[in-house]
Amino acid sequence: MLHLNNSYLGTSALRRPDWTIIGGGIHGVLLARHLLDTQVATPKTLRILDPNPWLLDNWKRMTARIGMTHLRSPMVHHLDGDPFSLRTFVNRFKNSDVAMQQNDVKLFIEPNNRPSLALFNAHCDEIIEQYDLQSLHVQTSVYKVTQLQENAEWWVHHTHGTRCTDKVVLATGRALAIKPDWAKHAEIQGVRVDHVLGEHTNIDHFQSGSTLLVTGGGLTAGQTALMLIERGFKVIMASRHSIRSEAYDSDPGWMGPKYLNRFWRSSYGVRRSMIRKARNRGTVTPEIFIQLRAAQTACKLSIVRASVSAIDVVTPELMIVRFSDGSKQVIGGILLATGLETTRPGGELINDLINSMTLPIGQCGFPAPGASLEWAPGLYVSGALAELELGPTAPNISGARMAAERIVLNERQKSMRLKQECDTSGQVRTAYAV
Ligand SMILES: Cc1cc2nc3c(=O)[nH]c(=O)nc-3n(C[C@H](O)[C@H](O)[C@H](O)COP(=O)(O)OP(=O)(O)OC[C@H]3O[C@@H](n4cnc5c(N)ncnc54)[C@H](O)[C@@H]3O)c2cc1C
Repeated sequence: MLHLNNSYLGTSALRRPDWTIIGGGIHGVLLARHLLDTQVATPKTLRILDPNPWLLDNWKRMTARIGMTHLRSPMVHHLDGDPFSLRTFVNRFKNSDVAMQQNDVKLFIEPNNRPSLALFNAHCDEIIEQYDLQSLHVQTSVYKVTQLQENAEWWVHHTHGTRCTDKVVLATGRALAIKPDWAKHAEIQGVRVDHVLGEHTNIDHFQSGSTLLVTGGGLTAGQTALMLIERGFKVIMASRHSIRSEAYDSDPGWMGPKYLNRFWRSSYGVRRSMIRKARNRGTVTPEIFIQLRAAQTACKLSIVRASVSAIDVVTPELMIVRFSDGSKQVIGGILLATGLETTRPGGELINDLINSMTLPIGQCGFPAPGASLEWAPGLYVSGALAELELGPTAPNISGARMAAERIVLNERQKSMRLKQECDTSGQVRTAYAV
């Protein structure tokens, strides 16, 4: 049985559906580019809703804050369609002073030909400009998504009004890390404890030259420690495990059938445990590993293999940190750099959708949208919300590409079915143009 959107009935004109992408990060922008490239959407029918003033704001802010110089992912992972687009971009701008030339930072480093952050960002900016994506961005925050009846339009309620749309894509990013209890206690005593990837994090309040505690033993913690050392601080890194080096955050086999075939044959419960096992959580890239060792040797960094038990606050700039191994250290400030939460992201917006529409979820609470990523007719997920379908790399750039390809493929297949239906009945009521 074919369901037709009410607004399309009674017209023979081909009409393209309206698309609304919620979230203008890596996932939202890559999808927007792909929808336009494949002509599944047009600039007239597509909008990206995000409260930040610019697309990719979160990405740029967070990666700059931790002093990231190179991506962990290889050269072929970016926002464009052609896998070698970054290389072509470099060749085209080789002799110009595009912002990708950053002091003495190499454009690509090994292993895996990983691009510099400046190069990656300059390439992103070019794509945004080429497709004029900034003009499709509406600076607003979505607080509710509703549908009056099944297969009708979606109502996207945001802080500046309501957008009525045929297709919605939830590309809202990942959940933030939860503050441990010891950090909350320290905050009550007047100490500022931010997560380095938090929205309003600031490191300007630290007294120059002081010793700072960085919690976490992964890439974000490692890069943060090195950035602080570069700025003249001494750093104590508290990590529950020894610092390990891994090129990727999961085996590259997860980007293709090697591991995904078995994943797709498994139940959602098993998929969650496969994701957990597959992630190289708490690992750093080889060059960061070497830099951390060098900082240790130079006595600028000490790594404590324990977790924090408590903070004794003398003043907000003078504290004693007590570790689970019984040791203590004097510190002048704290920065959390533990990984992001592994619980379902999206907060009330997603909770509300699940409850009001009884959308399918796995035992872990994440969406179970099926292979098409269409969680309900016309409602798609991308990013961390698509983990139960795309596996451990779902939140990454490669996951954004996988999601975009599936969404477009599904829309094309649906529109072909729709056209066929119209043709066989001999009565063309309506169809999407693709
Ligand atoms: C420091 C760091 C380094 C990373 N390095 C790599 C790497 O090298 N390679 C790789 O593949 N991956 C990397 N990742 C992982 C991943 O690619 C990034 O986290 C990426 O930013 C995820 O994109 P996103 O669009 O899902 O999320 P985000 O970039 O966070 O974007 C989500 C957007 O949604 C918006 N939003 C949220 N809720 C709403 C709402 N209710 N209404 C409107 N808008 C909303 C937010 O404002 C935000 O702009 C890295 C991640 C981090 C944190």
